[in-house]
Amino acid sequence: MSTGAQFYPGASTAYRYDGTYEGLMQEVNCCVTHTTEGTTLPDYDGGAMAPNTTLLPDIANQRLRAYCHFPADMSARALVDNSATSVRTNRNNAHQVELVGSCDPKRRTNWGSLRAGIDYIYWPEAPEWALREYARYIAWLNTEHGVPLTLTPHAWLPYPDSYGSSHGQRMTLDEWAVFKGHCGHMHVPDGNDHGDPGNMRMDLVVQYAKELVSGGGNSGGGSTQPPAPAYEPFPGPSWFVIGRRSPIIAAMHARLVAVGCNRYQSTLNADVWGSGDRASYQAWQRKLGYTGTDADGVPGPTSWAKLQVPNV
Ligand SMILES: [Zn+2]
Repeated sequence: MSTGAQFYPGASTAYRYDGTYEGLMQEVNCCVTHTTEGTTLPDYDGGAMAPNTTLLPDIANQRLRAYCHFPADMSARALVDNSATSVRTNRNNAHQVELVGSCDPKRRTNWGSLRAGIDYIYWPEAPEWALREYARYIAWLNTEHGVPLTLTPHAWLPYPDSYGSSHGQRMTLDEWAVFKGHCGHMHVPDGNDHGDPGNMRMDLVVQYAKELVSGGGNSGGGSTQPPAPAYEPFPGPSWFVIGRRSPIIAAMHARLVAVGCNRYQSTLNADVWGSGDRASYQAWQRKLGYTGTDADGVPGPTSWAKLQVPNV
């Protein structure tokens, strides 16, 4: 059973995996925070290892862009789930979030030519805006799903001490079975050895979330419901495949017509990506000054942003 909103307001649902990997519907009461060791939205093996939600930093705009892969109350797949024990990890009323970035001190300032805080987030020293953005998410989990704004009593160790189980940070199976509130991947037992998210300041995230939840009634401006972004986030070029059906396609179709790039033969199936979309999108790319293979009718992030497809 499940109650409460299943998708974070404003999140993209372009990468949902519950059609392929339908999980168990539960009533979540704890949240496991992961970090990815990457800088882009992971593929998660086509969803086989996906969390409920990925939060991808948009550093220029100081936002975490949310991608919901499974409904909030559906069991996700980012933990090692030992089916030989009585306690299941992914299925123990756990909600799971992956924060894109790093928790490895080797990447504290640089990751090759990338710079921490500018090109990616080193989560143990995340900027305050990022912690406050994550706080908005866990405040939502609290108000919609009752996940308590409390932390595991186990320490949030720095990576790599957080790896494995020799530093006492991992729960016992019995602790995990009754756990409620917030923990990291490093705290989950039963075959899990990953050390993410390291010593990130979840204490601050929880504190900020409490301020949002308690401030909602009396400050007038405070709300735990984040405003949805005005425009639909770019779903990625590989998302646009023949036959893709989505309200995003219908919204894009309407925008292409509105900007004078109507190359559609028909208005049937306006929510399905097809040849008319490609021809109309190509007209839009040409209107923006693109030529050659840059105007191939397959949306890219810049032309998509300029098209201003309303959030659906
Ligand atoms: Zn993890």
